[in-house]
Amino acid sequence: MIMDYKEYSHIIPTYKRFDIVLEHGDGVYLFDNKGKKYLDFSSGIGVCALGYNHSKFNAKIKLQLDKIIHTSNLYYNQNIAKAAKNLAKASALDQVFFTNSGTESIEGAMKVARKYAFNKGIKGGTFIAFKHSFHGRSLGALSLTANEKYQKPFRPLICGVKFAKYNDLSSVKRLITEKTCAIVLESVQGEGGINVAHKGFYQALRKLCDEKDILLIADEIQCGMGRSGKFFAYEHAQVLPDIMTSAKALGCGLSAGAFVVSKKVAQRSLELGDHGSTYGGNPLVCAGINAVFDIFKEEKILENVCKLTPYLEKSLEELIKEFSFCKQRKGLGLMQGLSLDKSIKVAEVIKKCQENSLLLISCGKNDLRFLPPLIIEKTHIDQMHESLRMSFKSF
Ligand SMILES: *Cc1c(COP(=O)(O)O)cnc(C)c1O
Repeated sequence: MIMDYKEYSHIIPTYKRFDIVLEHGDGVYLFDNKGKKYLDFSSGIGVCALGYNHSKFNAKIKLQLDKIIHTSNLYYNQNIAKAAKNLAKASALDQVFFTNSGTESIEGAMKVARKYAFNKGIKGGTFIAFKHSFHGRSLGALSLTANEKYQKPFRPLICGVKFAKYNDLSSVKRLITEKTCAIVLESVQGEGGINVAHKGFYQALRKLCDEKDILLIADEIQCGMGRSGKFFAYEHAQVLPDIMTSAKALGCGLSAGAFVVSKKVAQRSLELGDHGSTYGGNPLVCAGINAVFDIFKEEKILENVCKLTPYLEKSLEELIKEFSFCKQRKGLGLMQGLSLDKSIKVAEVIKKCQENSLLLISCGKNDLRFLPPLIIEKTHIDQMHESLRMSFKSF
């Protein structure tokens, strides 16, 4: 049956939707209601790292479904403890709070930073974030998201947030005051255009934060969980943040998020009663998170990302050589961007790709964003290359 779009009249129209009705998926492919098959290079915005209909993942969720779905955080359950252990180990940090989304993870991280500063006698600790950042849409996270269009109708937001220039240490230093409680960055910027934090910059931020006892918050919601070829992208810079936020691929489609803190921060921030979530870390979602970690290990997902990254990079570089409107490739691992010049509109390219059975999304001003499932193989990259090339040729 073809979707009756009138059914959407009761949905608040905050999203511009593509004219596709997706019904099911299999591996790296999605199928619409007319049976058309698409190669997915967006993973539901960086979520479906294991692709679709992964049999082991689904089996583990089904098993939990028949045991218990929800308990609230008033009782113990083994799944949450195991999920926290998995996440602490992968991040090299210490303690976890589970949320249901990225934006909530950022909210939690902000509260941790405020509380840490409060314990030192600083009330109303302020934040430094970065231009072209994206941290979410709830009021706190929106305050850190440097996008005038997103912020304007909702002011006043959290006061005292300042935006520095990404990869520019002196622009950060200029904004620091006695009240600064945290510096927040995406280890690789996503939505605002794919920008990778330089190793030297990241390390200098770490040093600066240590000197001033400011907390360094790494937003790994999009670039984390293996997408960069390491569990978390800050590992590439050999930096350990004080707080890390995760979501998206953490649950591979289940509503999972988390903020993770170092031992030092854990000891001096949130205490009994300081934070909560009804759903956060529920047994079903944590079974999913644990399944993700198990499968990552069994199927050597990180190794696959490292193996395929040069191949994807080369594939994109070849398109730059062939098409003059393709300007630059940026990215880390299987999180890549391709900047297009003004002569061609990214939205039109995406539409053309859909006709050619390839799903892509945009980012930044006029960039294509590549976030394939982490289970892809070389042949899928070849297929993406052909569809994109065909699409480019029609312009
Ligand atoms: C998607 C995203 C968020 C927000 O996550 P939601 O689950 O949509 O609330 C925050 N930060 C980054 C870097 C993201 O990519």
